[in-house]
Amino acid sequence: LRRFFEPMQELSQFYNALQSATAALEKLSGVLDERPAVPEPSSPVPLPAGGGAVSFECVAFHYRADKPILPPLDLQIPAGQTVALVGPTGAGKSTIAKLLARFYDPVDGTVTLDGVDLREVADPDLRRAVVMVTQENHLFSGTVADNIRFGHPGASDDEVAEAARAIGAHAFIEALPQGYDTDVHRRGGRLSAGQRQLVAFARAFLADPTVLILDEATSSLDVPSERLVQRALRTILRERTALVIAHRLSTVEIADRVLVLEAGQIVEDGSPEDLVAGGGRYADLHRQWRDSLV
Ligand code: ADP
Repeated sequence: LRRFFEPMQELSQFYNALQSATAALEKLSGVLDERPAVPEPSSPVPLPAGGGAVSFECVAFHYRADKPILPPLDLQIPAGQTVALVGPTGAGKSTIAKLLARFYDPVDGTVTLDGVDLREVADPDLRRAVVMVTQENHLFSGTVADNIRFGHPGASDDEVAEAARAIGAHAFIEALPQGYDTDVHRRGGRLSAGQRQLVAFARAFLADPTVLILDEATSSLDVPSERLVQRALRTILRERTALVIAHRLSTVEIADRVLVLEAGQIVEDGSPEDLVAGGGRYADLHRQWRDSLV
């Protein structure tokens, strides 16, 4: 029997080791994939506390010199404003989001946060101040608590639970087989699309950035999950500068301001109500969204 069990045991140890190696790799590639290298400032400028005013000043950008993506773009977002970016695929919405998170530097012009050029901000400061939640923000291997804590590694269990409560995720987490200790990728710990979004929101809430960038998931949710996610959204957007790449009418409707982007240009800029009344591009999109809901 030993001859049978020992190799089995070894195999299972090997399997565990493989799993933690995979988890580590996933974390690493998650970080590496998302951010091409941008140069660190030689004498970094600290960001002022509070604030959250964003400014794009004559920002031009391309990925390849023969294909300009953003013609010089000017955009001012006052601290605390929620801006919804809408427009067709390829218009440049994610590019604007990535410039604000400094995944890339502008080819020309500057992006500033509270008057400081992002190129002058030390990387860890910028990571704390500007957080991007994307639809690909898959959860890492590990427990639900680990996944939330990733936003603020020093957070206590109570702080993790508090963030989950604020976001409205506490009840479903408690109902999981091992509560906060449930492995998100193990059998029984599988989370629905809506639950994964809530965990990602709880992570962002705990990180408490000055600026939140949200690339809203396109996948549709069932009605109860959608309600929970919308309520959570209101919570994380409150009193914070936010740029949301919006795919849902209900999200645009909670924004203070909508920007319609086409071929890298802002073609409409105003409150959701004003743009509907104005009868332009957003009004058309609004009508399409409305019709798809009935
Ligand atoms: P949106 O978010 O509005 O769909 P994007 O900002 O993703 O638009 O894309 C704007 C344009 O930039 C598109 O033409 C797209 O093909 C191009 N693009 C996006 N990312 C890259 C990249 N990493 N390399 C080259 N071209 C890219």
